Amino acid sequence: MQVPAPFEYERATSVEHAIGLLDRLGDTARLVAGGHSLLPMMKLRLANFDHLVDINDLHDELGSVVVEPDRVRIGALTRHRELLESAALTAAFPIFADAERVIADPVVRNRGTIGGSLCQADPAEDLSAVCTALGATCVLRGLDGERELTMQEFHRGPYETACGPAEMLVEVRIPLRPHGSSAYAKVERRAGDWAVASAGAAVWLEGPAESGNAVIADVRVGLAAVGPYPVGLPEVAEALRGQPPSDELYVRAGAIAARSCRPAADQRGSVEYKRHLAGELTRRTLRRAVERITGDS
Ligand SMILES: Cc1cc2nc3c(=O)[nH]c(=O)nc-3n(C[C@H](O)[C@H](O)[C@H](O)COP(=O)(O)OP(=O)(O)OC[C@H]3O[C@@H](n4cnc5c(N)ncnc54)[C@H](O)[C@@H]3O)c2cc1C
Repeated sequence: MQVPAPFEYERATSVEHAIGLLDRLGDTARLVAGGHSLLPMMKLRLANFDHLVDINDLHDELGSVVVEPDRVRIGALTRHRELLESAALTAAFPIFADAERVIADPVVRNRGTIGGSLCQADPAEDLSAVCTALGATCVLRGLDGERELTMQEFHRGPYETACGPAEMLVEVRIPLRPHGSSAYAKVERRAGDWAVASAGAAVWLEGPAESGNAVIADVRVGLAAVGPYPVGLPEVAEALRGQPPSDELYVRAGAIAARSCRPAADQRGSVEYKRHLAGELTRRTLRRAVERITGDS
């Protein structure tokens, strides 16, 4: 069945208007942003809603990337294409451009949004892994104001978030820390497909990087498509902190990622293959992130 069940449609004129509509319409309503996850689910009748509240007119308010001295703020309605094309975002967090180049195709990237990606909470969603690696927080606005949640607090499980019925995600915030960089890598069966497995890494060094005497101050890894939802890997940070970067260390981190993830076998690959990819991609992205800091890339 490729036609959704009938629904009422309303365009929100402000964030407050959208929240008011969600409050009034309750469980029968959903926000629609890019529509690239919601509408296919409705067409397949995997989801049915009586009301869709279109938030695309809020792009002026919710569709920008703002770089501040100590953080980057990304509006929930910022589209994949805008993330890919933002030079300021790439300079701060090259992991975004790495990931956006391999998310879907231009048609999806022209409309799909970071807010929709995070709220869909698909375990294979690339931006969830990116935001996990970067230690992003999600700002939810509701009738009583705003609350800010870590990715772990926000993602409760597959297709489930902490966003309440009369709440919406308005912003993603990412702390800017000195001497850091990041990278993302994905294995897909064909260009534009969802990941078989993917990994994102963010690394921060301390000490003189130019002389080769720097050590790892902190590291975060986000994985996609190898677990019920993207998990941060604190065990990797524990193993790597205080150590000088080296290939041996990245291999050790990869082994931790491979054994910590929880992939399921499906048409994209076996559990063993996905574990192997999680380890290998973790190793590669850690090395790439460090090379970006030290200028060796
Ligand atoms: C062919 C195809 C290939 C794809 N390939 C990939 C891929 O390789 N990697 C990848 O990561 N993604 C992929 N996607 C998904 C794509 O990234 C979508 O754009 C994204 O998942 C959803 O964003 P959206 O803006 O379209 O959300 P929508 O479909 O509009 O919404 C998704 C869900 O989020 C809710 N929502 C949206 N915005 C908000 C908000 N601000 N606050 C609260 N709730 C909100 C909606 O109510 C809905 O429940 C693919 C999609 C398609 C169609």
